[in-house]
Amino acid sequence: MCAVKNTVDPWVARRLGLVRTQSIASEIRLNNCLSNDDNLILQRDEHFYAQLDALREKQLHYAIQRSTYYAASGYHQFSTVNWQDMPLISQEILRVQHLQMVCTSSSNIDRIVTLMSSGTTGDPKRIYFTRSDQSDTIQYFKVGMDSFTTPGDKVVIWLPNSRPGSISELLAEALKLGGKQPKCYGVMNHLSSAYKQLMEETPDVIVGIPLQILALAKYTEIVGTPIRIKSVLLSTDAISDTVVKTLERLWHCKVYRYFGMTEMGYGGGIECEVHNGYHLYESDFYIEIINPETGQVVPDGTWGEMVITTLRRHGMPLIRYRTGDVTRIIPEKCACGSNLKRIDRIQHRVKDTIELLPGQLLTRNELDDHLLTLPSLLDYTVQYNTNEEEKQLIMTIYYLGDTIHQDEILEKLHQLKSIHDAVCSGQWALEINFEEMLPSSCPSPMKRTICTSK
Ligand SMILES: [Zn+2]
Repeated sequence: MCAVKNTVDPWVARRLGLVRTQSIASEIRLNNCLSNDDNLILQRDEHFYAQLDALREKQLHYAIQRSTYYAASGYHQFSTVNWQDMPLISQEILRVQHLQMVCTSSSNIDRIVTLMSSGTTGDPKRIYFTRSDQSDTIQYFKVGMDSFTTPGDKVVIWLPNSRPGSISELLAEALKLGGKQPKCYGVMNHLSSAYKQLMEETPDVIVGIPLQILALAKYTEIVGTPIRIKSVLLSTDAISDTVVKTLERLWHCKVYRYFGMTEMGYGGGIECEVHNGYHLYESDFYIEIINPETGQVVPDGTWGEMVITTLRRHGMPLIRYRTGDVTRIIPEKCACGSNLKRIDRIQHRVKDTIELLPGQLLTRNELDDHLLTLPSLLDYTVQYNTNEEEKQLIMTIYYLGDTIHQDEILEKLHQLKSIHDAVCSGQWALEINFEEMLPSSCPSPMKRTICTSK
């Protein structure tokens, strides 16, 4: 029996008003998963592109008619024909002009999410959602979770849960619609409490923030308790392969990555059983990849900055919004048979890298891949200072348990060419601090960045 169903293709097809075709479905082999009508594969044909174009035009017209920002910024000159010439919305524009982008009266706004930017100062980003936008979010979660869970599954959620309409609440609602049993614990604050909750609930599925779930898995390993989990779903902007492989090894589970930014109403895409990129919710989002320097769209397969356009948003449509995330559209068709576009694993944010020497970039993903393999290392921070004559890279390593082998960490860091060359050149000093993380604490839920120490 195949454990994973293709739920996303038929869902996108229905959202686009298209009919699924048996002929395409019969070309692929998903064992007996194809016995269910819902496993049929979306056909990517002229009807598909026509529907997508219609949605883009509709969202654009809606935004121009209802928001002062889109009305005043020359958007009426554009359509799907000259789409790539349309202005891009930077994160700075969103920060300053969010109110002008709202397309409905305040009484119709059901939820406002405020995003503080870590490592920077200035106005926060604010994203506005109507009730129908929130209903769409529930659909995004349902179609994603239905692809790898089954009715009756117990699902423990460690995600933000402090306000009505929170991400946990919407996910729980989606799970209930699919016949699952959700339990929300909010963001993880203490490893020891999360461990107790894990023991009490014995869930089939866990949903959470990558570094927090990884820390919990390492903690269960140190405590010595064998854990049986069917699947884990991780969601943030960048999820290291090391996190996925370590969880699979420690818990003997399948790990799925979900791609869903707040700006997208937590929709976006999900991995299939092939685990090679996110299948996009194309009925609701139009994704482009641009060269971050020139703003020009790059060919499929080329790495660049992801730009999103919402296609069904009522509260605050975003037309060509620069996410700052670096990824690429995978040009090859997925081995699972789906015809949906895929984007690759998010590499890093455009600003979340540091060029130590000319042409030698250090990214957070590289550091994750190298450092998180160490059993007792739970988290780390990276800061840099370029004001002094000798530039400084300052790392703080958070570890659990009695021992941390400092030489091993130093060796791991020197395996990264950018760090090795920078230190050997005499231009950079590497400072490493060590701090024990107690079971009464936990890695931060915030997105980690490489940031300046000033
Ligand atoms: Zn696939």
